[in-house]
Amino acid sequence: APALSVTSARKADFPGMRTASGAPWHYLDTAATSQKPQVVIDAMTRAIGADYATVHRGVYGRSADMTLGYEAARRRVAAFIGGREDELVFTRGATEAINLVAHQWPTRGRVLLSALEHHSNIVPWQLAGWQVDVCPLTADGRIDLDAAERMLTAEHRMVSFAHVSNVLGSVLDAPRAAALAHDVGALLLLDGCQSAPRLPVDVAALDCDFYALSGHKLYGPTGIGALWGRSELLNRMPPWQGGGSMIDKVTFAASTYLPAPTRFEAGTPAIVEAIALAVACDYVDGIGRDVIHAHETQLVAQLRDGLRQFDDITLFGPEDSAGIVSFAMHGVHPHDLGTILDEEDVAIRAGHHCAQPLMELLDVPATARASFGLYSDEDDVAALLRGIARTRRIFG
Ligand code: PMP
Repeated sequence: APALSVTSARKADFPGMRTASGAPWHYLDTAATSQKPQVVIDAMTRAIGADYATVHRGVYGRSADMTLGYEAARRRVAAFIGGREDELVFTRGATEAINLVAHQWPTRGRVLLSALEHHSNIVPWQLAGWQVDVCPLTADGRIDLDAAERMLTAEHRMVSFAHVSNVLGSVLDAPRAAALAHDVGALLLLDGCQSAPRLPVDVAALDCDFYALSGHKLYGPTGIGALWGRSELLNRMPPWQGGGSMIDKVTFAASTYLPAPTRFEAGTPAIVEAIALAVACDYVDGIGRDVIHAHETQLVAQLRDGLRQFDDITLFGPEDSAGIVSFAMHGVHPHDLGTILDEEDVAIRAGHHCAQPLMELLDVPATARASFGLYSDEDDVAALLRGIARTRRIFG
């Protein structure tokens, strides 16, 4: 395993990792959104400044260059997950990517979700009129694929699971989930929000049919994300928003549309954000996702061991969770814990994490969640454990 210092030295690349007074900030909410490295900030500044122009339309050089930059970004993000450029739709985020499939898939039927899904992988299916079935979890908080195997029927058109849970950090055995889905003629959509920044991802090896990601969790900007889908599947979905850039020919009688992915990108796209996301992919790959994964795995082990020293703390999720640890402290509401930790410049998340059904299953109103990024280090773990010890003294 790589030394922790390999990535902790990277903290200096992230201006957001300091408090307003310049002290180290123990930011442990990367699962909600990641801090941005200076190279991404610089790329945005250039793209919105000296390089700025529209894409796809201009006959002048700057616009042609911007178009090349935007399409290069599409290639880069696709390659980051092992896909091709004609398979990658830029969206506003993972939420929009999942909504696109839920609403535009040409048929309806049953969709199998799991009990740990984020609201953005539940509500779109309900809104779009799918019949939702819920796969239970194993005792240690993984999606129970044995149960999925028993539940899946020929009526299932879609299986949509989190590749990595944003609450428990559990990692899905995606190839097995894909095999189970394909056995009954269904497709597998992976919500890759939490896996794209944490694990080496290759959509071919995962054997999924769709993969959704968010740029802002991947060390890139907000307002950009992606839906990867196999080209023939994307082209089976009709356009969902009409406007400029997605058309072939428009008359008042009828209009025709471009093939995927452009048919799903009506209007002027998030040019600046797409270009900066590609730079974030370069940054992450410059470190190596295997290195980041090993690093976060060590921090998870350290934190779980540290939390086990307290007899009033319940740990949720599997031991080998990917970069995310949820826990509850007996007699202390997670919000109170979060507030006390904030006084010590430790930022954790407290709440339902947009997974209310999972909270109900765990039988808690909320959990405290610490989540790591490539910049996290042992100091952050130590500061969190110190803050928990102090909270315990305060609450007696
Ligand atoms: N799925 C998971 C597992 C997530 O963690 C999140 C973000 N918390 C989302 C979906 C939604 O992502 P976004 O809000 O960036 O679209």
